[in-house]
Amino acid sequence: MTNRPETFNEDFVREMVRADLARATFGGRIQTRFPPEPNGYLHIGHAKAITLDFELASEFGGICNLRFDDTNPDTEDTVFVEGIIEDLEWLGYTSAGEPLYASDYFEQLYEWAELLITRGLAYVDDQDAETISQQRGGYGQPGVESPFRNRTPEENLDLFRLMRAGECAEGSRVLRARIDMQHENMQLRDPVMYRIRHEHHHRTGDAWHIYPTYDWAHGQSDAIEGVTHSLCTLEFDSHRPLYDWYLSQLPLTMDAPRQTEFARLELTHTVTSKRRLATLVADGIVDGWDDPRMPTLRGLRRRGYPAEAIREFCTYIGVSRTNSRHQIELLESFVRQHLNANAPRKMAVTNPIKLVITNWPADTVEYVEVVNNPERESDGTRQVPFSGELFIEAEDFMAEPPPKYFRLTPGREVRLRSAYFVTCTGYEHDADGNVSTVFATYDPETRGGNAPDGRKVKSTMHWVSAAHAISGSAAFYDRLFSAEVPGAETGDVMDDVNSNSKTLLAGCKFEPSMLDVAPGEVVQFERLGYFAHDPRESMLFHRTVGLRDEWARVKDAKN
Ligand code: ATP
Ligand code: MG
Repeated sequence: MTNRPETFNEDFVREMVRADLARATFGGRIQTRFPPEPNGYLHIGHAKAITLDFELASEFGGICNLRFDDTNPDTEDTVFVEGIIEDLEWLGYTSAGEPLYASDYFEQLYEWAELLITRGLAYVDDQDAETISQQRGGYGQPGVESPFRNRTPEENLDLFRLMRAGECAEGSRVLRARIDMQHENMQLRDPVMYRIRHEHHHRTGDAWHIYPTYDWAHGQSDAIEGVTHSLCTLEFDSHRPLYDWYLSQLPLTMDAPRQTEFARLELTHTVTSKRRLATLVADGIVDGWDDPRMPTLRGLRRRGYPAEAIREFCTYIGVSRTNSRHQIELLESFVRQHLNANAPRKMAVTNPIKLVITNWPADTVEYVEVVNNPERESDGTRQVPFSGELFIEAEDFMAEPPPKYFRLTPGREVRLRSAYFVTCTGYEHDADGNVSTVFATYDPETRGGNAPDGRKVKSTMHWVSAAHAISGSAAFYDRLFSAEVPGAETGDVMDDVNSNSKTLLAGCKFEPSMLDVAPGEVVQFERLGYFAHDPRESMLFHRTVGLRDEWARVKDAKN
């Protein structure tokens, strides 16, 4: 992108880091982490966090680790761990060291919890979750102290050890920090540190019966690893005082990390919440996490989005502290720009009808030279077979055309790309009136697609020689959510699911060189858009984006 904002590299996070380095805060070090919970696959929102965490560390000579925030055994799974590692690599980033796991710190976190208990800063509460939540109060509403708040450290230790040993039923007790039930920040009204879960954990197995909450695990994990700048999204803003409080109570041998929040990435016509994406999969609205309509990294990859385009988009939108929703057309314009420069051009007919050239010499095949990529001359040309029986798009012929229809119609001359001028002489249709065959004559003088007498035609059409055609399918996609802001009207994003977001055309005809297109590779179908070869199913292509830049239109409409 040429119009990268001038403020790039001068966002508030980079300003802060620069100031920290100048003052030698954290000993002049910078270390970040990307901390996904392995309860789903990564999505486009995560790409923003990843780009920020990794690029920031590398720009300032620091390191960034991948750390799994695997503190909740209910929904986490090793398939997500493996998928996240793979997707991160695909996006172009690698953890500085082996991936880290919050679950590796369970023992240390437990010891620190005992320490807080010993110092009267944590207690076992026998009340249920609902009571605890009610007693928390609200803004301007006082909190209510638990009747168990003043248990002695000895009693608390005994109970906490029973909890750890698996002697207590789920939901019967929790460990809470003992801070201030009247604190103006609800997060500090004696937050829960541990819950009892008799659940198998994907890494620690059945070793634990208590699991730390996000708040109790996150800052401490950061500290253990030596993270300096802990970047997270704005919803954790109110958690920051708690993050700091926990760290301030512990005998750390390292500098306490600092949490800084930035705005989530939201896109129009898109949801970026793992819970909702999981629902789309579970309800069969899409065909899995890597469905090409999904905003997951694996969905976007299967759709043909280049990783580089996603990274550039994230850099372009930058980081700020104000939540905003970006137009999806902007992301698509980065994708289109990459593919325009790199994708080989191919001829593919997605909705074929026959074109018979009546004056073509019988049984003759000619090979015409076609440019592989007009944007990059060094990609050269290829030879494409041309014959007297071709496939063309049904939409490229009309028996009775409206004004300004410049494609084939009886009596009209057009160019067949890189081949010849042809003039339509007639057509045949079936009993239902659908055109099945179009007839034309060609001008042998126009080989290569230009008339020596300089006469012009108003349209150029793509074609595939019938005898040489490869059969395949093409999936065209519309927005998965029809509303710009899914759920804005009814509050339920599912109400805005577009039930017509996929159209599969199974009878496509491709030029022979399509057999050389690798799984996952993206090509441009002349006039139709960019299409990604499915990684598993041969000759199934997913339309990545169309050819026209919608961003210009959308941007102008917004101004
Ligand atoms: P979700 O709501 O999708 O479950 P999450 O925040 O619970 O998201 P995590 O796996 O905990 O998912 O996220 C890992 C990191 O990615 C966190 O630091 C989080 O702040 C960040 N992140 C998640 N969603 C977005 C987003 N839409 N934009 C930017 N960063 C995000
Ligand atoms: Mg989270």
